[in-house]
Amino acid sequence: MSGTLTISAKNLGNLAYSNFCPRCFWIKLHCRLPYQIFPSIFSHIDGYTKKVFHAYIDKHGKLPDWLSELGEVKGYEEPPHWSRYKIHDEELDVTLRGEADAIFIMKDDSYLIGDYKTSKFKGKKDSLMPIYEVQLNVYAYIGERLQYTPIKKLALIYMEPSTGDDKAADKRNLLDDGFAMEFSAHILEVELRPDKIPLLMKKAKEIYDMREPPEGNAGCKDCKYLGDLTSLGPASGKKQQRLNDF
Ligand code: SF4
Repeated sequence: MSGTLTISAKNLGNLAYSNFCPRCFWIKLHCRLPYQIFPSIFSHIDGYTKKVFHAYIDKHGKLPDWLSELGEVKGYEEPPHWSRYKIHDEELDVTLRGEADAIFIMKDDSYLIGDYKTSKFKGKKDSLMPIYEVQLNVYAYIGERLQYTPIKKLALIYMEPSTGDDKAADKRNLLDDGFAMEFSAHILEVELRPDKIPLLMKKAKEIYDMREPPEGNAGCKDCKYLGDLTSLGPASGKKQQRLNDF
């Protein structure tokens, strides 16, 4: 046993990914990978989206009409930081945590949990959809064990950048000190199935508790290259060739 597993909503979602690799998952759970560095621009845009929506609700007591697919929203809760939005399962010894982008209060006093995505809207065809579905259901699973009950709806709120030639040439988007970019909203409701989360937590803990990393995905070339690299000497021409292949 490896002790308590603390896992985020997104990392748990990896278990549902079509190309899920238990070896990669084990490595991610046990190591802090140095190359996982992402630009912060998307979290800044998501944060700005939240401010725009909250400011509109403060002023009008509802969301803008172009978000009417979400239903009748009358207010919001400030989503708690992940350090407070968490639960611990004693039996599994797993701490599950996350930070929802949006917690809206509906007209009937139920909650809607939303996640902002700054990207092109691909609907259900998005290959990351299984991860997003788990992520939102983790927020629901945690939320209903805290004070957010009942949670009746989950939704992905895509803010898609409008980057066509017409928008680039539109003089309204040229400012005195730069330019503006428009975003259009698309809503995708996600099935509310928090009952699926305990099984995923159990599976994650089973992999975490393995003493050795499990086998990787059959046919994954990256692991083969890595194996070849580590088995070759530092001055090897073969090793250099492998590096060149990357
Ligand atoms: S098989 Fe591929 S996905 Fe799995 S650990 Fe190796 S490199 Fe990663």
